Amino acid sequence: MQYPEWIWHNGTIKPWAEATTHVMAHALHYGSSVFEGIRAYRTPDGPAIFRLSDHNRRLYASAKIHEIEIRYGLDELNAATRDVLQRNNLDSAYIRPVAFRGLGGFGLSAETPVDVAIGAWPWGTYLGEGVLETGIDACVSSWQRFAPNTIPAGAKAGGNYLSGQLVAREARRLGFGEGIALASTGLLSEGAGENLFLVFDGVLHTPPVSAALLNGITRHSLITLARDAGLEIVERDLPREYLYLCDELFMCGTAAEITPIRSVDGRSVGDGKVGPVTRQLQQLYFGLFEGTTPDRYGWLDRL
Ligand code: PMP
Repeated sequence: MQYPEWIWHNGTIKPWAEATTHVMAHALHYGSSVFEGIRAYRTPDGPAIFRLSDHNRRLYASAKIHEIEIRYGLDELNAATRDVLQRNNLDSAYIRPVAFRGLGGFGLSAETPVDVAIGAWPWGTYLGEGVLETGIDACVSSWQRFAPNTIPAGAKAGGNYLSGQLVAREARRLGFGEGIALASTGLLSEGAGENLFLVFDGVLHTPPVSAALLNGITRHSLITLARDAGLEIVERDLPREYLYLCDELFMCGTAAEITPIRSVDGRSVGDGKVGPVTRQLQQLYFGLFEGTTPDRYGWLDRL
């Protein structure tokens, strides 16, 4: 991979290769980091970062849950993010802010210094070339999501992604594009790194946050865009077999964007083609960046 030239680390922009940490940093051993995934898109009016403040607010929320003190304010992190894109001449990118317990103690409750960094790089379609048009084949994972009051699913924390890695790696090993995890209740939760939407008779259904899922910003954006377009949406508990019975199914997330699912566990979803509601939401979502969907909520943050 070709890395970009500059990265923001602990308050300054520096060459990518200089943003290092010690191998004995707390986060490497215990997963004590919080992070975000944000995308910037090329738009007719120049580059725009999608919901930058909302992502950084979720970063602080994740940090609050895990008592990780981020010593930079929202305006500072927002400005640093814009700076990273500008310095690297990136007008479309995936952006990764991360805050983690660094070197300075080995006890689980050690108060180490907290490192903060923001990197950005060009990143195409997360789940493979062309999948936004064709869809992927998914499977239900043999790994469940963590139960409530064990590891908080509402935090986007490094350690949570051991679960995501088990789900994603198992799916790839079995030849699937992505894995879907069930909550400890046995009900639908989410993909390894994406939220889920099912469509029945033109109505969107999505599992509620009580199903051990990350409260996705793409999920929220799609709920908002769909309601504005007059579509009906219900957040509800959904059993596994509804994956096989729905007319349309897709995953969404900053990295995965809106990825249709054409089969689950070898059963085709609908007729196996991308359905009209999925297409409509793709058009509304990407329309924000193409200029065909009005930015009614100030989601586009200009550089
Ligand atoms: N669930 C998980 C576990 C994720 O990692 C992500 C990606 N951040 C999502 C859902 C989707 O969240 P968002 O739309 O905010 O990227």
